[in-house]
Amino acid sequence: MRKYVIKTLGCKVNQYESEAVSQSLIDAGFEASQEDEADICIINTCTVTGKASMQSRQAIRQAIRKNPNARIVVTGCYAQIEPEKLLQITGVHDIVVNCEKYKIPELVSHSGLNHRNSENLYNFDARRQQDFFQTKSTVFGHRTRPFLKIQDGCDAFCSYCIVPYARGPSRSMPFEMVLENIKKLKDSASHEVVLTGIHLGAYCLDLKPIKSLFELLYILNESKIIKRLRLSSIEPHELSNEIIQLVKLSDMICNHFHIPLQSGNDDILNKMNRPYSRSFFKDLIQNIHESVSEVSIGVDVIIGFPGETDKAFEDTYSLINELPVSYLHVFPFSPRQNTPAFKLPDKIPASVIKSRCKQMRELGNSKKALFYQKFIGKSVAVLVESTREKKTGQLKGFTSNYMPVLMDGPDKLKNTMVHARIEELNKNMTVKGIMTSNE
Ligand code: SF4
Repeated sequence: MRKYVIKTLGCKVNQYESEAVSQSLIDAGFEASQEDEADICIINTCTVTGKASMQSRQAIRQAIRKNPNARIVVTGCYAQIEPEKLLQITGVHDIVVNCEKYKIPELVSHSGLNHRNSENLYNFDARRQQDFFQTKSTVFGHRTRPFLKIQDGCDAFCSYCIVPYARGPSRSMPFEMVLENIKKLKDSASHEVVLTGIHLGAYCLDLKPIKSLFELLYILNESKIIKRLRLSSIEPHELSNEIIQLVKLSDMICNHFHIPLQSGNDDILNKMNRPYSRSFFKDLIQNIHESVSEVSIGVDVIIGFPGETDKAFEDTYSLINELPVSYLHVFPFSPRQNTPAFKLPDKIPASVIKSRCKQMRELGNSKKALFYQKFIGKSVAVLVESTREKKTGQLKGFTSNYMPVLMDGPDKLKNTMVHARIEELNKNMTVKGIMTSNE
């Protein structure tokens, strides 16, 4: 049996697609293996920042070193955007653009085929892509909380973002297919599904008749199809009041939102081509906080966008500080060639970006601690993961509002819902719980 290994960089969508490719390879008779034993080594790359591109190149070189006799297949966003750089790496056999990923099992089944010399694959324009990436197998692994990718691509063209060029226009999985996939996941003993996409708020706008993410969520909620449904990141202007009110009333959709702010300064938002203002974002977060009980709100910010003055940074800092934000993801600005922001003047020195990121991360940590502390002494429902926490060997699970809880308990509680009383906040920003009952 031929053995394969997949190394994945980047976002949840990439992780999802790697799992889909992995499942298709198993269906085609391949066997998953360790890196140094593989016949086929697939690297699913990322290019969202300069660092991600560098890490992708490192991962490719490392795979070649560890597997001198393996067939090296490179795919993902970096392969889509800069295939010519991959051509310079001796040892890469196949370069497969994003939308051709699902053909990898077919490609590697035929040892004679080799994409390295195929001009069409290098020059494929992602913006011409119309199909939704879909493999036959959609039930993945034994994860307690599998991801289901229901949307791909983006038409927003935020001025700093390479994603619309790497992943093409927005495409959605049809409603019926979403329902069918969630049902399959439930049948394979998953209790929570995370709906994910590159631009989730654009879900279904490309389908005819045009529907919306709200309509999908409404149908899923009515059907009580699964215990928990979680939304991944959603743009502020696409998080409608309808969705917020549905989450408020739902026992199934998690009281957890992840919303990219990027900047709290209107001039910078404008330069970023982000279609909302500071005050809009403020009202949105307050509405969510007032509407949805015990809600967790995660926020993304980009630090050091060109022209980000001290005052502009202060606007972002003070906005986050005053809002009921539960956790932060902080990204230093990374100029991506061929995006409008690449050429903008008033670049921010790396040392300033570093120090602003540090301040922002400290703020994020204190916000998170404050949020978790509110639950000490309270009873919460926890979905226990199928693997234990590595360091402590304890069971680990998440609440609906995305609080990571560590508890003692037997293996039979893996992948079940339990109730726990929150005892204290651990140093590593998880919380300690005492199990009080199981389902
Ligand atoms: S919404 Fe903006 S940041 Fe998000 S993928 Fe699209 S272009 Fe990039």
